Amino acid sequence: MMIRQGFKFRLDVTPDQDARLRVLVGHARFVWNQALARCNDAYRAEDQRVPRYETMAKWITAWKQEPQTQWLTEAYTDNLQQKLKDLDAAWQRFFDPKLAAKRPRFKKKGRDRDSIRFVNFTKYCQLDGRRVKLPSKLGWIKFRQSRPIVGTIKNCTIGRDAGHWHISFQTEREVSAPVHPAPERWIGIDVGIARFATLSDGTFTAPLSSFKRHQQALAKAQRQLSRKVKFSSNWRKAKARVQRLQRRIANVRQDFLHKTSTRISQNHAMIVIEDLQVSNMSASAKGTIEVPGRKVRQKTGLNRSILDQGWFMFRRQLEYKADWAGGEVLAVPAHHTSQTCPACGHVSRDNRLTQAQFACTDCGYANNADVVGALNILARGIKTCAKGGTSPGSPVSA
Ligand SMILES: [Zn+2]
Repeated sequence: MMIRQGFKFRLDVTPDQDARLRVLVGHARFVWNQALARCNDAYRAEDQRVPRYETMAKWITAWKQEPQTQWLTEAYTDNLQQKLKDLDAAWQRFFDPKLAAKRPRFKKKGRDRDSIRFVNFTKYCQLDGRRVKLPSKLGWIKFRQSRPIVGTIKNCTIGRDAGHWHISFQTEREVSAPVHPAPERWIGIDVGIARFATLSDGTFTAPLSSFKRHQQALAKAQRQLSRKVKFSSNWRKAKARVQRLQRRIANVRQDFLHKTSTRISQNHAMIVIEDLQVSNMSASAKGTIEVPGRKVRQKTGLNRSILDQGWFMFRRQLEYKADWAGGEVLAVPAHHTSQTCPACGHVSRDNRLTQAQFACTDCGYANNADVVGALNILARGIKTCAKGGTSPGSPVSA
C-alpha cells in the first residue's frame, strides 16, 4: 500500500530568498482573494454555485494580460494554480454536507498562514543533502534537517510560521502491506507526570522531576548570583556555577531521554504513542480535561517548558530511532485513553478511582491507571493498522 508522509523543516534563507518568498506568497494570496471574490459573486448570483478549478485557472491568464494586474507575470504559475486548487477543494468541503466545513474566507496578511506549494518536485526541484533547489529565482536554500526524509518527494510546501520559513516535503512510498510485526513486538506508551513513560507491558520509567535535586541546587546558585555585585570576581564565579549546573541538568535529562528512547526502540518494532498536542498537555494541569485539576500540584513543581520539551524530544527520538531499527512509530488520538476499560471497553470517568488507580465500574477490571492508558493506546494502534489506510509515523498535511 502507498504511504504518504510529510517531513517539515526550518529553512535558512538569505535576505534575497526571504524577499523573493514574500513576493511569491503575496502573489498566491492575491490570487486566492481575487478568485474568492468572484466565487462569492457567483455564489450569490447563480443559485449557490461557484466555478470549479478549470474555470478559475483561466482567470490567471486573463489577469496577467490586464494592465493593473500585469505584475502577476512575475509570479510562479504553479504556485497560483495550486492556490486555486486549494480554493476549489475548500469550496467542495463547504458543499459536502458530511463535512460541513466553514466557507472559504479571504486571506489576510499577518493573520492567515502564508504558503505556496511546488509540485512536480522531481522535474522542477532538486534535493542535495541539506539544501533544496527551488524554481522561480529562489535557487538553493538550506534547511535544518532534523530527521531523514523517507520516500519519494512528490511536492513541497513553503510557509511562514512563528517568524520563520518552513518547508514541508510530501513523500510517498510503497510499503508491502500489511506486514505488521508480531504482536509481542508491539508496545503502547503513556507519557505522564508521575511516571515519565509507562509501557503497556507494565514497566515504567522514573519521572523527569527526579532531577529535582539538581533544580534545587540551581535555584540556590541563582539566588547567590543575584546577591553579588555585578561584574565583580565573586559574581563571575557565581555565574560560572549557575551555567555549570544548567549544563549538567540539560545533560542528565538528555541522557535519560536517550536511554529511554533507545531501549524502547530496540525492543519493539511497532511503537504506539498518543498524538498529544503539547500545549493541550500543559492545559490539563489547569484541570480542563479528563481528571480536573489533579495534576496541578505535581506539575507546578517542575518547569512546564522543560516537561513539554522533554515529551517533544522523546517523541522525536523515538521516531528516528525506530527508523534506524527498522521499526515504526504510530501516533493515535488521545481522547479517553485514561477512562476506557481495556477488558470490556466501558468508558466512564468513574473508572478512575484515583489519579493512580483504575477500576472498571462495569466488569471490575483493575490496574494501575497509567498501564491502562498504555494498553488502550496499544489497542488503538492495532485497530488503526487493522483498518489499513492510516500511515504510520506522523503524517503532516501539506
Ligand atoms: Zn470493564
